[in-house]
Amino acid sequence: MNKHRSNYRKILNRGLRKQCPHCGKGKLFSAWYTMRERCDACQLPFEPSDGGTWAFMYVTTAGITGLVIIMMLLLDTHQQWIWRFIVLPIALALIGGTLPIRKSVAVAVEYLLDVKLNRFEEPPKDLDE
Ligand SMILES: [Zn+2]
Repeated sequence: MNKHRSNYRKILNRGLRKQCPHCGKGKLFSAWYTMRERCDACQLPFEPSDGGTWAFMYVTTAGITGLVIIMMLLLDTHQQWIWRFIVLPIALALIGGTLPIRKSVAVAVEYLLDVKLNRFEEPPKDLDE
């Protein structure tokens, strides 16, 4: 059980660092938001199913949008320039700026589900290296 938890933590950490969730050696992106098809080191396909990360991206975008709306409700002001010039850029920066990290974590979560549900044709090697 602890070994599995440590593997889950390792996979999610690799997601946060934008690395291959399986080996941790290959980089997920070749540019700011251009994802590679496969890992350079272990050949793991990063998005084996079309739209496999869609739900995670949708939920995290909705969550960030919800936080911005809560912030807008808490800041009770009648000065509309604050909304236009401060809140809107912050919202766009949060949603756009976190895209690569959210996508990378989504790939890691999808990989975790694939491992947990045994959806590999060829099971990946043990993660402990
Ligand atoms: Zn890899």
